[in-house]
Amino acid sequence: MKINGHYYANNMEVTIEIDEGVIKDINWSKPEGYPQKEDLIIAPGFIDNQVNGYNGVEYCQEDLTVDKVLKTVREFWTLGLTTIVPTLITSSHKLLLNNLKILSETLQSPQSAGSIAGFHLEGPYISPQDGYRGAHPLKFVRNPNWDEFQQYMEAAGGHIIQVSLAPELDGAIPFIKNCVKQGIVVSLAHHNASANVIKEAVDAGAVISTHLGNGCANSINRRENVLWPQLAEERLTASMICDGFHLTPAQIITFYKVKGCDNIILTSDIVHLAGLAPGFYDYSGEMVELTKEGMIVNRETKNFAGASLPLYKGIEHIKNVTGCSLKEAVDMGSLNHARILGLTDRDNILPGKRADFVIFTLIDNKIEIKKTIVDGRVVYSKEN
Ligand SMILES: [Zn+2]
Repeated sequence: MKINGHYYANNMEVTIEIDEGVIKDINWSKPEGYPQKEDLIIAPGFIDNQVNGYNGVEYCQEDLTVDKVLKTVREFWTLGLTTIVPTLITSSHKLLLNNLKILSETLQSPQSAGSIAGFHLEGPYISPQDGYRGAHPLKFVRNPNWDEFQQYMEAAGGHIIQVSLAPELDGAIPFIKNCVKQGIVVSLAHHNASANVIKEAVDAGAVISTHLGNGCANSINRRENVLWPQLAEERLTASMICDGFHLTPAQIITFYKVKGCDNIILTSDIVHLAGLAPGFYDYSGEMVELTKEGMIVNRETKNFAGASLPLYKGIEHIKNVTGCSLKEAVDMGSLNHARILGLTDRDNILPGKRADFVIFTLIDNKIEIKKTIVDGRVVYSKEN
């Protein structure tokens, strides 16, 4: 198979030959001006390391099935995603075991086409403090427990690739070291750790700040808070929810200037309400509103209860807000994930790498997904 279009990184016309799931050859032809209407852009497939569900299916729900997960995978393809990392948040021991097993079965199913890279466990080892805990249920929050985690790893068929935790909890630092030894990417999330503890966690091997600027209390001390040390720490890549609600433009610009494109990954943190009609919904016993703009908010507490906009909207938004190039915006939602998560088969566009592509138009800074290719196979085409 050959695909042709404007290469996202330099706008040059490119023809990419794909054979048996991998990139075989890349041929350049004449350079063109900035994409005009209907110009197709070829980019590496989008990667999202934090998806909680979609369109009525939540990976933490009790009646999860392989078919339900597969449905979300197919829907994610329509959004330009070629790799997802289904995320389970703080839940009961029983539910985590059960759902990790279901997710693991889905990962191995040929029907998921290799789109599930592994799983992200966000919690249950997070701060019990209101504000920092976010929407995670307090009754299931607990301290890191390596034996318990081994049970999750086993249920997941060894496919937990990222753990988000609060480093100030008892036992967190040795837990981080154990994860790193097993090749699991550790990120700091929903925590209220001091600068010293953050440094200890990074020394132990933590590499990501999960949704930096969120999972944090609304009111914080201006000098001693969780943001400064994570911004100052060069070894921490920031994951950012750039949906236009979770972070202000000034936060996005600041994070982008401090971290730089190479040390940012965009994340959707999308939940099951995404894709549904605007309105009021019961979300884990809490009444929340999904607005027509895509914000999910508890009107009483004013807290967000997850996000609903897909990753490509974040790519549009960060480009719009920071003025960064299309290449940078796409890389933050694609190759950067592959690199930090160690997905070396898809961390670059080079011969021999897995053929994961998204083809889209960019008109008035709006992305329209036309085609998604996973492992050399067209899994979504707008015309069909
Ligand atoms: Zn979170």
